[in-house]
Amino acid sequence: MSLRIVVCVKYVPDATGDRHFAEDLTVDRDDVDGLLSELDEYAVEQALQIADEADDAEITVLTVGPEDAKDALRKALSMGADKAVHVEDDDLHGTDALGTSLVLAKAVEKTGYDLVICGMASTDGTMGVLPALLAERLGVPQVTLLSEVSVEDGVVKGRRDGDTASEQLEASLPAVVSVTDQSGEARYPSFKGIMAAKKKPVTSWDLEDLEIEADEVGLEGAWTAVDGATERPARTAGTIVKDEGEGGKQLAAFLAERKFV
Ligand SMILES: Cc1cc2nc3c(=O)[nH]c(=O)nc-3n(C[C@H](O)[C@H](O)[C@H](O)COP(=O)(O)OP(=O)(O)OC[C@H]3O[C@@H](n4cnc5c(N)ncnc54)[C@H](O)[C@@H]3O)c2cc1C
Repeated sequence: MSLRIVVCVKYVPDATGDRHFAEDLTVDRDDVDGLLSELDEYAVEQALQIADEADDAEITVLTVGPEDAKDALRKALSMGADKAVHVEDDDLHGTDALGTSLVLAKAVEKTGYDLVICGMASTDGTMGVLPALLAERLGVPQVTLLSEVSVEDGVVKGRRDGDTASEQLEASLPAVVSVTDQSGEARYPSFKGIMAAKKKPVTSWDLEDLEIEADEVGLEGAWTAVDGATERPARTAGTIVKDEGEGGKQLAAFLAERKFV
């Protein structure tokens, strides 16, 4: 039986770009470049390693996002994923984590899966809640924040490293897991991989295809709302201490003044 792996990847604004809010207090994505969330590259990498170990496996990368989110799927396909699903709909604008988890759950079920792999968090919303919300909606176990993961005889196993202990965890498939940025370097797409990605299938679904009502998602369906947003003050250059023999004292005074010591 082929192991069906679905990797959830998010298309995020480039962190080096200038981020600001649109009038409706959602993040303005119009004139900002985007890319595959770096933390999701680790999820794609672990899916590829599990597939390499399995007799037969198929990797589908899935994203919920605007038109340009296809770039995130192309990157994951060029790393080696087999096919992609893109859920796109104007009514998704401003969807919160609960709404995104609903859309992802429906898309994962429609795709068919044994294992869902997520990143530890996105690099823009950074909530780290989607894997748990998704597992709840799918009614399957979740094993999150793994630094090592493998699949054997219908069981997913992994190691989660905490501050004081490492846990060995496992769950029977189907299951949802998330992997950390300590799970191993993500491979760079080869030229061959980039060329092959152009021919790999990308299926597009909208809310109707997933039988989701517009008022269940978007700003209208959100359980949370951004009431206001103020720009953080620009970072100042800071205090430069020129050490002419008294540098240590000046530094100690600086730290003491600010009650760091
Ligand atoms: C600055 C900012 C603040 C926000 N604050 C809130 C808030 O307080 N409450 C709220 O409910 N929503 C909030 N949102 C919206 C929320 O980010 C989105 O709903 C998002 O899709 C889910 O949250 P996340 O990005 O934090 O995901 P996380 O929970 O951090 O994501 C974990 C993993 O889930 C998967 N994943 C996440 N989003 C997608 C996607 N669109 N497609 C495919 N896979 C995905 C990826 O594998 C990712 O690694 C915020 C968004 C931004 C940009």
